[in-house]
Amino acid sequence: MADYKYKCLECFKTYIGPQLPAKMTCNCSPAKQIAGVKVVRPLSDALLRAITSGEAATLRAELCTRWQIENKSHVSHGANFSSNQKVVNLIMDIVGPVKGGLRNTVRQAAIADFGYDIDTGEMA
Ligand SMILES: [Zn+2]
Repeated sequence: MADYKYKCLECFKTYIGPQLPAKMTCNCSPAKQIAGVKVVRPLSDALLRAITSGEAATLRAELCTRWQIENKSHVSHGANFSSNQKVVNLIMDIVGPVKGGLRNTVRQAAIADFGYDIDTGEMA
């Protein structure tokens, strides 16, 4: 779950955590209602690691087996995966065609394996 940040720039009362049911009441006099903003956590190093097309083919095969997804890449072409891509790009490429009940299973698996939510594109 994404965190939310609420901060008053005058009294500096700050809250970071799950989204509040209402705005934050700050310590100014009179108190103000501070709206929260969603905190986007940076992707992990594991997700941002650059991989070669050879590594990508290996990792794709591993993840497809592990997540029980049909591997649609053509090994002879080194997949349709260009250089300078990252693990997260490969994951999104693999899960792109996955729909229905399997999607939820794979989503949970990706959260367990990478801490990454494939539906929001953010850290889980
Ligand atoms: Zn304040």
